[in-house]
Amino acid sequence: FSCEKSQNGNLTLETASNETTMDIDKKVSDLLSKMTLEEKIGQMNQYNGFWNVTGPSPASGDAAKKYEHLRKGYVGSMLNVRGVEEVRAVQKIAVEETRLGIPLIIGFDVIHGYETLSPIPLAESASWDLEAIKKSAEMAALEASAAGINWTFAPMVDISRDARWGRVMEGAGEDTYLGSRIAEARVRGFQGDSLSLAHTIAACAKHWAGYGFTESGKDYNTVDVGTSTLNNIIFPPFKASVDAGVRTFMNSFNELNGIPATANSFLQRDVLKGKWNFDGFVVSDWGSMSEMINHGYAENVKHAAELSVNAGSDMDMESYAYVNELAALVTSGKVDEALINDAASRILRVKFELGLFEDPYRYCDENREKEIIGSKKINDAVLDVAKKSIVLLKNEDNRLPLQKSGQNIAVIGALANDKTSPLGSWRIAAKDNTAISLLEGLNTYPDNKINYAKGADVAIGEASFPFEVEINNTDKSGFSEAKQVAKNADVVIMVLGEHAFQSGEARSRSQIGLPGVQQELLEAVYAVNKNIVLVLHNGRPLSIPWADAHIPAIVEAWQLGTQSGHAIAQVLYGDYNPSGKLPMTFPRSVGQVPIYYNYKNTGRPAANEPNSVFWSHYIDESNTPLYPFGHGLSYTTFAYSNLKVNTISNNEVEVSVELKNTGKFKGKEVAQLYIRDLFASVTRPVKELKGFELVELKPNEVKTITFKLTEKELGFYNNSDEFVVEPGDFKVFVGGSSKTSLEGAFKL
Ligand code: BGC
Repeated sequence: FSCEKSQNGNLTLETASNETTMDIDKKVSDLLSKMTLEEKIGQMNQYNGFWNVTGPSPASGDAAKKYEHLRKGYVGSMLNVRGVEEVRAVQKIAVEETRLGIPLIIGFDVIHGYETLSPIPLAESASWDLEAIKKSAEMAALEASAAGINWTFAPMVDISRDARWGRVMEGAGEDTYLGSRIAEARVRGFQGDSLSLAHTIAACAKHWAGYGFTESGKDYNTVDVGTSTLNNIIFPPFKASVDAGVRTFMNSFNELNGIPATANSFLQRDVLKGKWNFDGFVVSDWGSMSEMINHGYAENVKHAAELSVNAGSDMDMESYAYVNELAALVTSGKVDEALINDAASRILRVKFELGLFEDPYRYCDENREKEIIGSKKINDAVLDVAKKSIVLLKNEDNRLPLQKSGQNIAVIGALANDKTSPLGSWRIAAKDNTAISLLEGLNTYPDNKINYAKGADVAIGEASFPFEVEINNTDKSGFSEAKQVAKNADVVIMVLGEHAFQSGEARSRSQIGLPGVQQELLEAVYAVNKNIVLVLHNGRPLSIPWADAHIPAIVEAWQLGTQSGHAIAQVLYGDYNPSGKLPMTFPRSVGQVPIYYNYKNTGRPAANEPNSVFWSHYIDESNTPLYPFGHGLSYTTFAYSNLKVNTISNNEVEVSVELKNTGKFKGKEVAQLYIRDLFASVTRPVKELKGFELVELKPNEVKTITFKLTEKELGFYNNSDEFVVEPGDFKVFVGGSSKTSLEGAFKL
């Protein structure tokens, strides 16, 4: 291995085809030994892309400064540069104009696809289909890598129990076990078998940590949680990501128990890099270093840089803290150069793993870009996962599936005719108007007659990313047309819910019903025709108790991405039998939030007892959710029976159950296993998901499903940070939702 610059400015590197970690470590340390302090710090600096990177270099301003830094080798990474032409342009500067020619790592928010979009992550999580989720990440990596990108800021693995928080759309919902399995699937999907392949990209587990436990559901807000919640609820999906080989972490805007995550040594040094031995790197969230001044933790940017690097933040996203302040901090002895060496090495290691030194332009292939982006292969995959993400919430008297001919169908709601909103939030590279709308999807079934009326807009104003605030629509002038169209219809499909940008970053809501006048529209149409199928588009659980009480069929269609309309139409017509299950509890009212299935009992009776008012409840609302975690129906029915619980050995229990398709259609069911540790040294939840299996059965078919519970599932972290499996009595529950149907017991 040598690290000399060749005549064209490239590093000449000998590369072994099967590089071992040791080979890479050696290359990293050789390279590091040739770097100046400023160059090492440069690796730790990430800049947002100047949007016209292929144009002439700007003469002044922010962009000019960035160009200057790029040429000096003071930039290790860029984000939001995209497309082969742009990526090649900045990579060329890094490789050909800097002293050592170290290539950039190019980051991007590939959250649920690049240009062709999969369902939003919360929706995809409703599939409980780990293969489909992995495949979706794989396709996202394939498309993004063809656009020059080699690092995604995904998956977001923050557990959240608060439907008000707009970013629940980006995660896997409320449950740690499900969230951990999904985290692994996504990491493996993005990173593939090896990062050295040109169609795989580095993944990033974010936001480390606690971001989903933001107080009052407002984005960026204070987080204050104890050890038990951290260890048992928040950390496991991050740990699962590390175990699945995730190469990067992103820290978080929030403070955790008084210390901003970005300068939190406990999180970054003690747990992540210490206890878990993580050898990838940690990028800050956007500007989160300088945000520590507002938090009241750093005196100024220089102080923020010192705190961040000492606490183990390796790369600075857009705070200009490292690039401007770190060198002086090292020279003055405030920061040990060993920390800089460590951070830069971590970043260089990932670049070596990505094969960027071998060929800095390996992600810059115009032919691949043309061939792959928007290809049939990717569209087929996103359609597949979109269908699997749909959850049938209610289907009274088997209103669904729809008859395929002879029907007069009214379709009502602005979202039915929307080709942008179904793409969901976080769609930086996807173009407006590229989703299949539900109307388009329904029109592929030509033997029914469709009459469309908008009824009302969801919101007014141009909704686009990022952060323009929308105003809920109040205009009801379309109601009379909607009622007219509905009156004579055999069936009315109402498509209501949130616009894509009513969830996502900085999009918390204090009311989580149907925004604007949509509730009124629903009731007005119901007054003229009760045969309504309600299709919901939303990025979070909604509270829709009136709809649940009145509307016979309700379909949760989230924001399903590019193929949305086809996926929904195929489900409505029964060409795909829905099998999704909610990854997050739907509350009856926002006052119940946070509401989640794995709560803990109080000392009071769980339900009201005669003459007692002193139990844990509301006087004006039930304790039960509208739809529980894990809920989702099918066009067929399933029955669980014959639960058997066998203790195999110390701390190993086998649970088996028979599942039968008792209905008329072939269908899939997610069989769910929950346990309860009845008493323990730290109180345990009333139920905890510890296994699930997606099973497909033909009518009358029976299958025995076997779950294994090992120490991993039976234990928990106590308040002294120890993982313990305690002897005692356990219950086990099995069923098709967290409202399980069978119950057994065992003793450890
Ligand atoms: C978000 C991150 C994202 C970053 C870069 C931040 O505002 O919190 O999740 O990756 O921006 O776009």
